Amino acid sequence: MALYVQKYGGTSVGDIERIRNVARRIARTRQQGHDVIAVVSAMAGETDRLLGLGRELSERPVEREMDVLVSSGEQVSAALLCIALNQMGVKAMSLMGHQARVETDSVHTKARITRVDDERLRRAIEGGHAVVVAGFQGIDEHGNITTLGRGGSDTSAVAIAAAARADVCEIYTDVEGVFTTDPNVCRSARKIERISYEEMLELSALGAKVLQIRSVELAMKYAVPIHVRSSFSDAEGTMVTGEDESLESVVVAGVTSDKKAAKVTVLGVPDQPGVVAGVFEPLAEQNISVDMIIQNVATDGTTDLTFTVTRDDLERTRDMADGLAKKVGARDFTVDPDVVKVSIVGLGMRSHAGVAAKMFRLLADEGINIEAISTSEIKTSCLIRAKYAELAVRVLHDGFGLGDR
Ligand code: ASP
Ligand code: MG
Repeated sequence: MALYVQKYGGTSVGDIERIRNVARRIARTRQQGHDVIAVVSAMAGETDRLLGLGRELSERPVEREMDVLVSSGEQVSAALLCIALNQMGVKAMSLMGHQARVETDSVHTKARITRVDDERLRRAIEGGHAVVVAGFQGIDEHGNITTLGRGGSDTSAVAIAAAARADVCEIYTDVEGVFTTDPNVCRSARKIERISYEEMLELSALGAKVLQIRSVELAMKYAVPIHVRSSFSDAEGTMVTGEDESLESVVVAGVTSDKKAAKVTVLGVPDQPGVVAGVFEPLAEQNISVDMIIQNVATDGTTDLTFTVTRDDLERTRDMADGLAKKVGARDFTVDPDVVKVSIVGLGMRSHAGVAAKMFRLLADEGINIEAISTSEIKTSCLIRAKYAELAVRVLHDGFGLGDR
């Protein structure tokens, strides 16, 4: 007998018939003799709808209350799923984040899970229940409701799987697994059978939307195997696991484009110790994370600094621009949202030379200019004009032979 954590995303519980479909799946897993903790998202579109309501009342709604508001979406789907399960004769019980003891810090709207106390979950399972936990939500040390950021139910599921020592964490979604690139952009995209945590982490960070990045970090930390699969078919999906030799032989596993990047350029800052820190510290204090960073060589005692932030943080960065420019003595501070970051990811990059060079050549042959580059051991990213995003993805995907395996 195994313990399955099964996370069902918004489209999987998007309407009453789909909720019945999910209930049938859980019922089947129970019939096979396994224990199930299901973790659900809000019904498709619901989180956006709720966010919209809050924003109608205020341009910058109080974050604590936004968490109270949006977490209600998951409460509804958890209850509906339990109603469906009980109707089918499967004893089921819903638990909200605070009841399942999903403890988080107090950063409203993007809280991080600090601990999951699996006591209550255990008791429910031992009482013969299929347990349905409302994803995306938790509780901070002062008893406030928090949410984990968009896509946070994935992270709820993995954290619960780790705490309950589940055998696998299945992430049910509306696609068949993790693909070599976005099939909507590139027709030759293929489903990946197995991928390492490290690669998945990079792909998620780069805009592959199947898994929230935090969920992959947690899965890696606690060695929770993740199975990403479709709730609309029985096909095997993609296993996300620790790396091994067969995975290491793949040079490029996937190609992504991240449309959420915006480019910030700080022109003419004095080339002195403390200037870079002077730009980034205030951003960090505002919880704005910075990604690609380039500092030019100084020519006349001044230098330029280019970096990217996510578009969500663009307005706040813009708000800070004047103050920052003054503080570090910059000539100008510009923001440019019209860029995308295309990336290739693969464990095999560690041991193969020339992968980045090939990427630059493939882009150059299409006349695509590269505005910034960043690399890690297993990733190379290029910032390009937004209008070339899809072309770049196709050229890289096929150029690295991902379509024809
Ligand atoms: N309902 C939340 C969202 O739409 C969390 C999730 O679905 O994972 O982002
Ligand atoms: Mg999701």
